[in-house]
Amino acid sequence: MKKSKKRVESNKVKTTTKSVKKAIIDSNICDRFIFCPVKRACPVKAITQQKVSFFKANVPVIDADACIGCGKCIPVCPHGAVKMKSVKIKA
Ligand code: SF4
Repeated sequence: MKKSKKRVESNKVKTTTKSVKKAIIDSNICDRFIFCPVKRACPVKAITQQKVSFFKANVPVIDADACIGCGKCIPVCPHGAVKMKSVKIKA
């Protein structure tokens, strides 16, 4: 007598990830200058900075979802506070 093998397919959905570059700002290096040139360099306006008072501001914030990883913000920071970081996203 032959035994039939039933093939059970996995219900798991295959997810793939890919590595993309995103800009990050080192808050320990950033001088929190209210007229930060990095904000103006971003072509997709991914960088925002909250003003605290007339001459004070917080560290600029980069919206990782909006950032396209072009790197244009890196050379304009006078302190070298902006760096690129590889992050994995679902493809
Ligand atoms: S890498 Fe490009 S898109 Fe991302 S924050 Fe810097 S200038 Fe904007």
